Amino acid sequence: MVDGIELVSSDKELPAKVDVVVIGGGIMGASTAFELVQRGLTVALCEKGVIAGEQSGRNWGWVRKMGRDPREMPLMIRAMRIWAGLNEATEAETGFRVTGITYFADTDADIARYTAWMEAVAKFQIDSRAISAAEAMALAPGSTKQFVGGMHTASDGMAEPTLATVAIAKAARKRGAKIYTNTAVRSLDMTNGRVSGVFTERGRIACTSVVLAGGGWSGLFMRNLGLRLPQLKLLSQVMRTAPIEAGLQGCGSGRGFGFRKRLDGGYNMSMRAAHPVDIVPDSFRYMKDFQQALGNERKSLHLRIGRRSIEELFMRTSWKPDQKTPFERYRTYSPTPGKKVLDAARRSIDGIFPALAKAQVVERIGGLIDVTPDAIPVISAVPEKPGFFLSCGYSGHGFGIGPGAGQLMAELVTGETPCVDPTPFRFSRFSDGSKIEHWPIGL
Ligand SMILES: Cc1cc2nc3c(=O)[nH]c(=O)nc-3n(C[C@H](O)[C@H](O)[C@H](O)COP(=O)(O)OP(=O)(O)OC[C@H]3O[C@@H](n4cnc5c(N)ncnc54)[C@H](O)[C@@H]3O)c2cc1C
Repeated sequence: MVDGIELVSSDKELPAKVDVVVIGGGIMGASTAFELVQRGLTVALCEKGVIAGEQSGRNWGWVRKMGRDPREMPLMIRAMRIWAGLNEATEAETGFRVTGITYFADTDADIARYTAWMEAVAKFQIDSRAISAAEAMALAPGSTKQFVGGMHTASDGMAEPTLATVAIAKAARKRGAKIYTNTAVRSLDMTNGRVSGVFTERGRIACTSVVLAGGGWSGLFMRNLGLRLPQLKLLSQVMRTAPIEAGLQGCGSGRGFGFRKRLDGGYNMSMRAAHPVDIVPDSFRYMKDFQQALGNERKSLHLRIGRRSIEELFMRTSWKPDQKTPFERYRTYSPTPGKKVLDAARRSIDGIFPALAKAQVVERIGGLIDVTPDAIPVISAVPEKPGFFLSCGYSGHGFGIGPGAGQLMAELVTGETPCVDPTPFRFSRFSDGSKIEHWPIGL
């Protein structure tokens, strides 16, 4: 049990053969498995730790179109439709609610950035709109800060991270998926140039397709296969409070604060765009790929030598199928939340929203987000290994898009017409000479 949520138990015997093995029990792996079983395929989902143990159980829980890279917008619109029916489809509570999301502006420069984003996504006709100072203040009851305006999307909302991911995984199981926790996948088995199975720490499973939805571990898995995936990790963090009546509804953020009113009556509180980043060997390996991203996000990144710098320096990067891997050593990666960032967030939030100053923080949570050079995901076949597919690199905003990404991945595996154009998400963009363009995350 985590926060009163019964986690997903493991099935016992590994199957000899399935149609698809899904690696990773975050929201991407769970959603992909759920979509695949609904299409009549047999699926084994293997998770090295527990379902929703990493990013998908640690995030802020925002489900938003607002502020997204325009290339993600068609898939996010699709995801929103799925969220709307997800409680019914999973026959469980995912915590999804349409609450509205607000970005509060301190300066005219903030408003100019919001306006530029609204212009960039105008063709999608979503309901994001500029709000006046009076409207912003009405959405921030009790605020001691005078906002000059903001941007609001009434149709955006939230879901509860662990609740939703567990609900989707359990629904996949109800429809026939087998789920194996504490089961790391070490490598692929290839026969005559295409995927014929996976090697797990508990033995081999034969299959015709493999989907790697391994979050921040995907780059390492690929590296052992001789494939280059430019992927880095940033620390993100959040505080969870006990239930409290503080007046603020939905989700909102501005300079020095971010909040979400949770389903249990407490708040998630943090500060947006503040990420400690441990310098690791991959920082140098992929430095060139991330040059533009580093430039755009430099104000929100705090580079440092941390625990992960040492861990990754000595981390094994290649192995044979019968050898123990880092996936088994790090079952559920639980980084220490950044004290400096969360202390600063607490001071800032208490100052702006005195009603929240009385909130008791019951948990501080850290999670590593996996980012790509263009801050949009890879949802793609891997042409070098026929039968192998990749779903990762959600760059800090994958929870909301998760159900849509699961549908798209299932369609790529089955060869159906995809629900949206998958071209922007192709793996080959990092190697075929395409121009990689980064849209700033911290709008
Ligand atoms: C603090 C924080 C706040 C965030 N806030 C938001 C938000 O408000 N809204 C939003 O949309 N997004 C948010 N995100 C981002 C979002 O959580 C992620 O983009 C999303 O959860 C990624 O899902 P995933 O399934 O790809 O990865 P994960 O949830 O990390 O799952 C990957 C899983 O794969 C497993 N795995 C890896 N390798 C192997 C292997 N070889 N064998 C077996 N298992 C393996 C791992 O153990 C892990 O459980 C936030 C993230 C963090 C950390």
